[in-house]
Amino acid sequence: MSTATTLNMNIEKTKKSKLPQVDFNNLPFGQTFSDHMFVCDYKDGKWQTPQIIPYQNISLDPAAKIFHYGQSVFEGMKAYKDEKDQIWLFRPLENQKRINISSERLAMPAFPENYFMEGLETLLKIEKDWIPQTPGSSLYIRPFIFATGAGLHASPSTEYKFMIACAPSGAYFAGNVKVLIEEKYSRSANGGVGFAKAGGNYAGQFYPTQLAVEKGYHQVIWTDDNTHEFIEEAGAMNIFVRIGDTLITSPTSDRILDGITRKSILKIAEDEGIPVEVRKFTVSELTEASKNGTLKEMFGAGTAAVISPISLFGHRGKDYELPEIENSYAARFKKRITDIQYNRSEDKFGWRY
Ligand code: PMP
Repeated sequence: MSTATTLNMNIEKTKKSKLPQVDFNNLPFGQTFSDHMFVCDYKDGKWQTPQIIPYQNISLDPAAKIFHYGQSVFEGMKAYKDEKDQIWLFRPLENQKRINISSERLAMPAFPENYFMEGLETLLKIEKDWIPQTPGSSLYIRPFIFATGAGLHASPSTEYKFMIACAPSGAYFAGNVKVLIEEKYSRSANGGVGFAKAGGNYAGQFYPTQLAVEKGYHQVIWTDDNTHEFIEEAGAMNIFVRIGDTLITSPTSDRILDGITRKSILKIAEDEGIPVEVRKFTVSELTEASKNGTLKEMFGAGTAAVISPISLFGHRGKDYELPEIENSYAARFKKRITDIQYNRSEDKFGWRY
């Protein structure tokens, strides 16, 4: 990481670290937070001096627009520690760009690249002992921006807060996921906000997901809002399927999040000579391929689990099982990506930071 800090940042360190109380062998995802957080306020038309301060509650006016009109966007990324105690990020500039794409859609101000990157680097240097080294563990990083300006007028806030919180997280095993193809509810629509990491998108997913869980599934496969025939995403992950030897994923659109794991998989697949089709695909194609034995794999792709293999999908009251296969694409992609993330392999695409 570069050490040059050009931002004028106020740093206040905690007097008493919470580290000794943390059991690094038992870390439920996103429940334990590190000692410090990065905060930067937007007012009078500009971002103010950033701060790193002890992790603490924040105080907001009850009329803050986040509570009423939901202006909030976020990102999810991770810091990894290798065997030599070096700290790595994976394609962080992609997250930096994406949070601004999300913000623009919600009429929120862009957060400058140097603020994002220097804020993140400085915070991570302070929190380096919070980055777990055990295999598969990492420090989950949550940058987020929300409307703090008070007022009930349904219009964009003039004040915002950008923050970064960090949560050490254990190995995230997500396999044997049972999914239900959703045909009633939608997570996004043409012209909507599906491509943005807007808080409200996730709130809208909870209820349909709860219904699927009640039926014995773990997650919902989102289909297009118009016909419910085209497969779009898997929960809060992009979706890939393998029919025969061909890897297929939907093209991104204003209904689908442009995932960093997704685009990394596409690059690796190309590198490995795997036949890839980025195209729309249908539920009928999956049920057909399942019946004739050509449906080999289905998996979700996202920062949290990297790859989450699907073992079964439900559709109109019928369950379709995926076969267990040797040398799966899912396992190959997961290894290639995590080897880059933990500095265990060369980094031919220049993704490590
Ligand atoms: N789709 C949605 C809806 C998501 O929330 C995420 C997680 N950010 C993804 C896909 C995967 O994106 P990424 O690989 O950048 O984590």
